[in-house]
Amino acid sequence: MSKKTLDVESITAAGVRHLKPYQPGKSVEELERDLGLSSIIKLASNENPRGASPAAAAAVTRVLTGLERYPDGSGHRLKNALSSHLGISSGQITLGNGSNDVLDLLVRCFVEPGEGVVVSDHAFAVYALAAQSVNAAISTVPALNYGHDLEALAQAVNKTTKLIFIANPNNPTGTYVGSEELLRFLGRVPEKAITVLDEAYFEYVDNHDYPNGVELLERFPGLVVTRTFSKAYGLAGLRVGYAIASAAITEILNRVRQPFNVNSLALAAAEAALSDEQFVRVSREENIKGINQLCRGFESLGLSWIPSSGNFICVKVGSMASQIYLSMLGQGVIVRPVVNYGLPEYLRVTIGLPQENHRLLETLALALSEAGKA
Ligand SMILES: *Cc1c(COP(=O)(O)O)cnc(C)c1O
Repeated sequence: MSKKTLDVESITAAGVRHLKPYQPGKSVEELERDLGLSSIIKLASNENPRGASPAAAAAVTRVLTGLERYPDGSGHRLKNALSSHLGISSGQITLGNGSNDVLDLLVRCFVEPGEGVVVSDHAFAVYALAAQSVNAAISTVPALNYGHDLEALAQAVNKTTKLIFIANPNNPTGTYVGSEELLRFLGRVPEKAITVLDEAYFEYVDNHDYPNGVELLERFPGLVVTRTFSKAYGLAGLRVGYAIASAAITEILNRVRQPFNVNSLALAAAEAALSDEQFVRVSREENIKGINQLCRGFESLGLSWIPSSGNFICVKVGSMASQIYLSMLGQGVIVRPVVNYGLPEYLRVTIGLPQENHRLLETLALALSEAGKA
């Protein structure tokens, strides 16, 4: 009998056929293996360099004795904690396996093949990936000063638009949109379109005119705000994020959400992390000092950067960016190239501890001088 063959590509869903998966930053283990180096530092994935609240680790330890049990599929305790923390009802919260999960749920629940999804140039890659996987019609709107141009986004919205993604602040550029601008935009969005305001870096932002999306939910029934425990709370490894929206939208998201999408360790850790406000405050304050430390360093190296409201910053290193990235890797410092974001002359650097920022600057200086000789 002849062996059967199957052309898997040809039977793959149209949206998935040409999908290029999200590229995460290189891991420390990977680089250790590649280079045989130790003392590697990773400033590539916007993780909290201070770890997580000790309360979160203690909560995980307590849950370790119940691993044979399924987690609470409704996430009751965490949703209650979030509900009082945010001043909303728990019926407005959808928990996710990272906020990535809820971004994906939003697309699956609201976008049919061929319907419109509007994103900005240089915006977080997951939006377009999620939209592409369902074969949506994606419009990518040119950026304004590297950030979201809300006027242009509003103009790109049409009758077929189902979702509009706004990252505030945006990753990788660190740009944010102010209250006034956002309110004007939301006032213009047609009734049938949902605006997703991704506030993954909310806890880090220190700008006086930065809008708190949760406070706008009452006025705009089509608004969905997403947040995460991966960044300021330092729990990226556990995967927990959430969406806050009207009860009606939340009910839809929960129809599609996998019943046990957030694991028991993550639920317990997130609940504990939420109560440690001091940890988040220190993380924010130290992050701002770190940004200043890096910017002073960039300045003395003659480099420019995109002002950032997150825990990362894009520095302009010029046309040799990929060589500089590799040279830094060779010195044991992992940063993030952003060519795939349309920023070929930049590198994105996560704000580290003071000594990590110091090492980053030294490494960068050496990489620049090597690139200059090449
Ligand atoms: C990191 C990040 C997220 C989500 O990360 P999760 O770990 O899935 O919660 C979402 N949006 C932006 C803009 C991010 O940078």
